[in-house]
Amino acid sequence: MAIKTAEEYRERLKRMRPNVYAGGHQIGRDDPILAPCINTVAYTFEAATDPQFQHLAATTSHLTGEKINRFTNVNTSVDDLLKKQEMVRTLCHRVGGCIQRCMATDTINAMGVVSKEIDDAKGTEYHKRFLEFLKYYQENDLVGSTSQSDVKGDRSKRPHQQADPDLYLRVVEKRKDGIVVRGAKNHITMGPYVDEHLAIPTRTLTKEESDWAVAFAIPADADGIKNISRVTGPRPRIELKAPYNQYGVSDSVVVFDNVFVPWERVFMCGEWEFGGRLALTFADFHRHSYCGCKPAITDIIMGATALVADYNGVGNAPHIRDELTELTIIAELAYASGIAASVKAHPTSSGIYEPAFLYSNCGRYLSGVNVYHEYDVLTSVAGGLPSTLPFEQDWLNPETRPYLEKYIMRNPEISAEKQHRLFRFISDFSCSAASGWSQYAGVHGGGSPIMEKIGIRGQYDLESKKDVAKYLAGITE
Ligand SMILES: Cc1cc2nc3c(=O)[nH]c(=O)nc-3n(C[C@H](O)[C@H](O)[C@H](O)COP(=O)(O)OP(=O)(O)OC[C@H]3O[C@@H](n4cnc5c(N)ncnc54)[C@H](O)[C@@H]3O)c2cc1C
Repeated sequence: MAIKTAEEYRERLKRMRPNVYAGGHQIGRDDPILAPCINTVAYTFEAATDPQFQHLAATTSHLTGEKINRFTNVNTSVDDLLKKQEMVRTLCHRVGGCIQRCMATDTINAMGVVSKEIDDAKGTEYHKRFLEFLKYYQENDLVGSTSQSDVKGDRSKRPHQQADPDLYLRVVEKRKDGIVVRGAKNHITMGPYVDEHLAIPTRTLTKEESDWAVAFAIPADADGIKNISRVTGPRPRIELKAPYNQYGVSDSVVVFDNVFVPWERVFMCGEWEFGGRLALTFADFHRHSYCGCKPAITDIIMGATALVADYNGVGNAPHIRDELTELTIIAELAYASGIAASVKAHPTSSGIYEPAFLYSNCGRYLSGVNVYHEYDVLTSVAGGLPSTLPFEQDWLNPETRPYLEKYIMRNPEISAEKQHRLFRFISDFSCSAASGWSQYAGVHGGGSPIMEKIGIRGQYDLESKKDVAKYLAGITE
């Protein structure tokens, strides 16, 4: 069976060449600092065989007919897209935030679509190579990064205008057996615990920029690659264990210092006309995933807000119910956009279904601009305690515990321990480094709101709306 276990995933990480750096030195992939982050991705393996979730997290490969993890699947139907979106929302609930692995799912889909389009236009053989790679990826149940965001240097300048051409990843040498690339990708989530880095362009490119038009897959421990990583996660618990505190995330600057990539792993090389198409196709698939994960975050905020209001005895206060309804509308409208993007998806020449760009972008935009508002609602209803709650050690200390138990009491129906657990969760979730990460991810991950607006504006048929107004106004031409 192509579905692997979480244990097999952890074991293969341990066998990789050490090239991860964090906190000033090189670390192994078995370093305890990475354990919560690896737990998150490990959960995607567990879900694929969990009777409760396997209807979402497992599927059948259209290439081999074998059972595979849905995170390694390309979407060949509307149903595939609907299931991916539902899987993302469901699994984000389980880990209390970003499930991370969908990023590569969206990248392999985009690579599949665009490699075929390049072949159709240019007679190249990228798609054949891609399908071979995809088979390998599915059979081994691999985990990939999306190495898209270049470091980008001066934002007002194009790649070929930068003072240092390496500020966008580029091809520096073409050989008989492959290419050599140099540059760095920024913010790369999962960098230290992926099997493969999947690199794609970050923007549209011009004729002068064919060296920057490059897409490929490379083992994350290949020669010349360095993952310079930071780790973010909730504070570890001592005794009051909770599911949320088992998970974390890590993001990397991934340096490609003259990395050799064999031709069979290169899916674009020089076709600058397709740089923007690949960048935006990934964005489309990934913003579609965001229509699953962002509603999941809103669900968590909504649930915590409603629960803390109940615990405080004010669950029925009209202003709180009103705020909660607003959160419901944001979550479900974003989710509905993802459903619309799935239902209105179209098959590409590769057979892969591409979500309707307008709807995936509208859903992602709506979520992104509401992130801080959502935390604002939770903060205002929770009161100040998430920011001033004494340490867990003081809860555990027999000398202070009776006071903390007595004075945390609100609704007398709810035990002191439950009240304490809820406030500690809200503190970790909304008043911590982890919440800062989640807020920035909510705004910028998959593209900042301005990028969605530019995408929507570029593809929207505003003229047809003017025609409607003209017709109604009796203006004829
Ligand atoms: C938590 C997190 C995880 C991420 N994970 C990944 C990942 O796994 N893989 C990946 O590839 N990327 C990842 N990203 C990157 C994400 O896609 C980028 O952060 C996003 O595209 C914005 O790019 P930037 O951070 O370089 O910001 P900038 O490009 O510096 O943009 C910041 C702002 O500057 C302005 N601006 C930028 N360029 C211009 C311009 N030319 N003209 C006018 N104004 C401009 C805009 O207002 C923009 O909002 C992640 C980001 C975050 C925050």
